[in-house]
Amino acid sequence: MNQQLIEQIVGEILGQLGQSPVQLPERAVPIAVSARHVHLQPEHVEILFGAGYELTQRSELSQPGQFAANETVMIAGPKSSIERVRILGPVRKATQVEVSFTDAMKLGVKPPLRESGNIEGSAPITLIGPKGSVHIDQGLIIAQSHIHMAPSDAARFGVVDGEYVTVEADGVRSISFRHVRIRVNERYRLEMHIDTDEANAGFITQGSIGRLVKPNDAKETIPMQAVTKTTKTPDPVRIPESLEFTKKLLSAEDVADISEKEIVVNKGTIVTALARDTARELGKTITSRK
Ligand SMILES: [Zn+2]
Repeated sequence: MNQQLIEQIVGEILGQLGQSPVQLPERAVPIAVSARHVHLQPEHVEILFGAGYELTQRSELSQPGQFAANETVMIAGPKSSIERVRILGPVRKATQVEVSFTDAMKLGVKPPLRESGNIEGSAPITLIGPKGSVHIDQGLIIAQSHIHMAPSDAARFGVVDGEYVTVEADGVRSISFRHVRIRVNERYRLEMHIDTDEANAGFITQGSIGRLVKPNDAKETIPMQAVTKTTKTPDPVRIPESLEFTKKLLSAEDVADISEKEIVVNKGTIVTALARDTARELGKTITSRK
């Protein structure tokens, strides 16, 4: 079964789950992983795809009215480019490109961590379509993780729009996401959005379930700087006592390269005079295997 078919089936199942509300455990939040994507302003659709062009819908997204378009573009930074980046519709007021930190390193760009829509002073990027290209001075961001929810969900969780919470995801590799922003809207369906780097860090796949924890429940934060300062220097590397040397000839260079104090050689191994001198200088012993 190919990846596209799997995604389609998963999408359909998730869609069905959404239609008939399933009973999730208390404080459970379904997690959706957002791959890199582009939102376009109308003029940019025309530059990239031709005059009068309009995006066509490929599949619906979980949030009402949002869709993945059939169209893709290439995005290019100073270091490299990424092909077939999905466009999400409908069109928006300002073009916005959302990538992961890994993508950013590959492209050679430094986008800030931002909430979707907040692109003032963000990073530049070039978009290349079949009919033309657009360079934007700002609009490239790494998306801040967030949870979409309806007012009824917010009431149930005891949170308000704009508040930050922690979400714990206990999978094979347990992880907790701090500073996850709550976004409340009548039209939203309960869902946490993270990017592929965040998902990969916690082995999280589409539709995994997280647990919403209020920030007060979370432990006190320790600034990263302080952690670095108080971290003990690692213990010196323990050097094994002896090394079995198996080659035919032991040279002075070999002696210098070997970190062990005792070098055990085979009966027939030739030990050069310089090797013996070097060993003596470095306080090492050369012994012959019996
Ligand atoms: Zn979202």
